[in-house]
Order: sequence, then C-alpha cells, then structure tokens
Amino acid sequence: MNNIYDVIIIGSGPAGLSAALYSARAKMKTLLLERSKAGGQIVITDEVANYPGSIKEATGPSLIARMEEQVESFGAERKKDEIKEVDFTGKIKRLKGIKEEYQAKAVIIATGATPRHIGCPGENQLIGKGVSYCATCDAEFFEDLEVFVVGGGDAAIEEALYLTKFAKKVTIVHRRDELRAAKSIQEKAFKNPKVEIMWNKVITELKGDGLLESAVFKDTKTGEINEYFADEEDGTFGVFVFVGYLPINGLFKDKITMNKAGYIITNDKMETNISGVFAAGDIREKPLRQVVTAAADGAIAAVEAGKYIENNFEE
Ligand code: NAP
Repeated sequence: MNNIYDVIIIGSGPAGLSAALYSARAKMKTLLLERSKAGGQIVITDEVANYPGSIKEATGPSLIARMEEQVESFGAERKKDEIKEVDFTGKIKRLKGIKEEYQAKAVIIATGATPRHIGCPGENQLIGKGVSYCATCDAEFFEDLEVFVVGGGDAAIEEALYLTKFAKKVTIVHRRDELRAAKSIQEKAFKNPKVEIMWNKVITELKGDGLLESAVFKDTKTGEINEYFADEEDGTFGVFVFVGYLPINGLFKDKITMNKAGYIITNDKMETNISGVFAAGDIREKPLRQVVTAAADGAIAAVEAGKYIENNFEE
C-alpha cells in the first residue's frame, strides 16, 4: 500500500492546515491538496484580531505563513492540484485531480466557502472593474474614491472600516435597519467620520461601460428606486460585497449528507455519513465560522482519522 496515503486533506485554509499539522505530527502519511495558494479566505483578511495569541499586526497572510511552515516542519506532503471527482464508495478513497489520481485510507474535506454575490444584473460583468469581494486585495484601487459596502455582518463592517484608510467615503448598504455585526464592531463604524450607513437599501443593478459608473438602489421598505452615479471627476466608484458565504461543496453533492444550505453535516468527531470521510472548517454545518473553530475542527478530524485508520486498517 505504498502509494496510498493515510490521510488526504482537500483544502488548505486554517482547517486543512491544522488537520495536516495534527496528521503529520501523528506520523501518518499525509497529503495536503491545495487548489491555488494556501490560506483560504483568511489570506484576504487584513486583521486577525480574534485568533487567540494573535495580537498587534497579525494579518491573515502572516498567520497562514506560520501555519504552513509548521505543517511542513512535521513532514506533510503538499501538492497543488484541483480535484475533479471523488469516489468514496470503497474502503480506499479515490480522488481524481487534474494532474494525478490519489488514494487514501481517510479523507478530510476542508474546502471551505466562497463569497456570496448580490446576484443583481451587471455584478459579474463588473468584477475587478469596480466590484470586489476582498478589501485587502483591492482597497488601494479606490484611493480617494467613493465606496459602497454591501452587508451588515461582521465582515461587511470590518472591511468597511479597513476601506476608510483608502476611500474618501464609505457607505454601508444594509437591507434592514439594524446591523448584524457584533456591537463592538458597530460602535467603531458609528464613530468613524468617513462611514455612512444607508439603512433598508439593496442594490438591484450595477452599470458601467468598462468601469463601474452607476448603481441602482431600492428601498426595502418603500420600494423607492434611486440611481447613484459616479462623481464626474472620479469617473468610477467601488462596490464591495460582504453578504455571507456559500459552501464549496460541488464535488460532494449526492455523495455526502449536507443540510439545506449545502453545508456538510458532521458529528462532533467531524465524521460525515461516510466512514473514513471527515469534514472540517467552514464547509461543515456549525454555529461559528472563524479561524479558531476551523483550526479546532482540523485537529479533531485528524485525530479521529487516525483512530479510524487504526481500527480499520490493521496490518
Ligand atoms: P453574515 O454574518 O452571514 O452576514 C451577512 C450580511 O449580509 C447580513 O447582514 C445579511 O443581512 C446581508 N445579506 C445577505 N444576503 C444579502 C443580500 N442578498 N443582499 C443584501 N444583503 C445581504 O456573514 P459575514 O459577515 O460574512 O460573516 C460570516 C461569519 O464569519 C459570521 O459568523 C461572522 O461572525 C464571522 N466573521 C467574524 C469576524 C470577526 O469576528 N472578526 C469577521 C468576519 C466574519 P441580514 O443581517 O439582514 O441577514
């Protein structure tokens, strides 16, 4: 069984990296598969103020870089490949990637989630031309321009505050009259002179020939429609969207039990309904999607995968 890994982890955000760390440290033959670069959503986060021990200037990329170093120091193998198909029917699990095929005794799914779009006309066409889902990546393109931030959760408000370092004005567009974000984050936004809040509004269309030039707003209470046009001198403005996330579950549809929203259901050992297949991090149904809970899930999944292998693959 030389070419068979003990554990293959799909996805290398904090959940996948933590699983790889625990798995490799337990001397299991471990492969961490990453589609593009490591880190997942946290690498597009400027500040990670709530991961225990990360204080002052802890950024998403710096935290991930340290996790990667740690994973490699324990001997986990890493490969860049995109898995296109999985076969979890046999005792040995098979994964078909673009580059190679892989086999493992246990698999940990840590594919995470991806930003949800507003879903209005013009949005997709204007991505990278005024529409963005990542303030850390794109804020500097909006230096001294106006910016709208859609959403009222933690992500929207935190990213709106980050954008105030660049934009001349940041308007949060929220569909209700109360924010969902934690009170401590809300207070910072209310105090910031660059931040305005448009209550009870949604964006129903984005327009622009090349760059974003106008946005249509609808009042969720009165139904009133208004169109905002870019300042003539600026020629454009920004719309940053933070309206939650969607699980990256395409590979596992009809293969693993998920909830209605498409998150994989596990028990507290991170076991899915398929024996030998575990899930960790944002892809699973859970009450709190944070780096700290992703890392914890990864650790549990790896330890449980180890026990599963011990019980099922005695040699
Ligand atoms: P979230 O908490 O689900 O908030 C999504 C926001 O988008 C909500 O305000 C929601 O409005 C709004 N929304 C959803 N669909 C919309 C639509 N179609 N049009 C307009 N608005 C829409 O998502 P999140 O802020 O991305 O956070 C995800 C998770 O990560 C949460 O558990 C959050 O606590 C966590 N997080 C934590 C931190 C931190 O603690 N530092 C930072 C970032 C994220 P409603 O309020 O009306 O539903």
